[in-house]
Amino acid sequence: MRYKGFVIFTLFLFNIITIKPKAIDEKDSLYIDNCKRDLLVLMMAYSDEIRDIEVSEDNYIYLVLNNNKKIIYDDKKEKNKNAKILDADIQDTLEDIYPLDSINSVLEGMDPGRGRSYTFLNSIYGGNQNEIEKNLDFFSTYCGNIMFNKKAKAGEALKNALNEAKELADKDNRVNNYIFPISGSYNYRVIQDTGRLSPHAYGIAIDLNRNDSDYWKWVDKSKGSKRIEEYPKELVKVFENNGFIWGGKWEHFDILHFEYRPEIILKSKFFGDTSKSNNKKWYEGAPLNDEIENIINIINSKL
Ligand SMILES: [Zn+2]
Repeated sequence: MRYKGFVIFTLFLFNIITIKPKAIDEKDSLYIDNCKRDLLVLMMAYSDEIRDIEVSEDNYIYLVLNNNKKIIYDDKKEKNKNAKILDADIQDTLEDIYPLDSINSVLEGMDPGRGRSYTFLNSIYGGNQNEIEKNLDFFSTYCGNIMFNKKAKAGEALKNALNEAKELADKDNRVNNYIFPISGSYNYRVIQDTGRLSPHAYGIAIDLNRNDSDYWKWVDKSKGSKRIEEYPKELVKVFENNGFIWGGKWEHFDILHFEYRPEIILKSKFFGDTSKSNNKKWYEGAPLNDEIENIINIINSKL
C-alpha cells in the first residue's frame, strides 16, 4: 500500500512539473501569434500612420505613429464582455473575428468591432472636434458630397464603396431603397445613452436609409432578424470589401450603420480560419508581397 501511495504521489508531482508549464507555454505562444497577426493587419490598414512597434521592458506592446505618439496594444486588464466595449484597447477590438459570410438573422453573443479604442481613434483621426474637422473633406459620390475623414484613406474607401453600390443598384433597383436617402455621416455626437463618442464623430461611419427595425433598442431580435434577412447581401459585401464593418453583424444590431475599420476586415480575410488549425507560420493566410514581408520582418524582429 505504501508503495502504491508513493507511485500515485510521484505521478501527481510529475503532472505538476511537466504538464502545467507546457499548458502555459502553449497559451503564451498562441497569444503572441495572435498579437503578431493583429499588428500585421494594423500596419497594413494604417500604413500611412503607423511606422513601428515597440515592446517595453515590462512587456507591453506599443504602436508607434509617424507623429511619434505611442499607443498601447493590450493593457492586459481583466475585462468582462461589457468592459471590452466600454474600455476597449486595440487587442479587445480585434478579439472577436468579424464574420465575412452573409447572415440571415441577428448574431448571437458577439459584437465584432462594436468596441473601439478611443486612444487609437483620437490618434489617427483627431483628438477633439477641432482636430477631427481639420481632417475632414467632402467626397463626391453619386449620393452627393459626403463629409468623411481623409486620414487612413477612409474617405477614399467610402467613395469606392458607394461607386460599387451604384453599380449594384443599376442592376437591381431594390438596392436603391436600402441606400437612399442616406441618414447621416459626419456628426460630432455621443452614442445614445452613453458618454462615448460615436464613430460618426470621427467621420468614419455612414448610416444608409433608415428602417424602423434597424436598431437593437427600437425592436426585438425577431424584427431585427427579418430586416437582416431581406437586407441585400451584395450591398454589405461591397462595403466589407472596402474596409467597412456592418452594424448588422452585431448582437446589438445597428443595421443602417457601416463603419470604416479596415484592420478588422483584413484580420477576418487573412486569419478567419487560422484559429482552427495548428503548426502554421503565424502569418499563414496573408498574401505575401514586398510590403507585407517587410512588415512581417519588423514584427518578427520585435516579438
Ligand atoms: Zn451609424
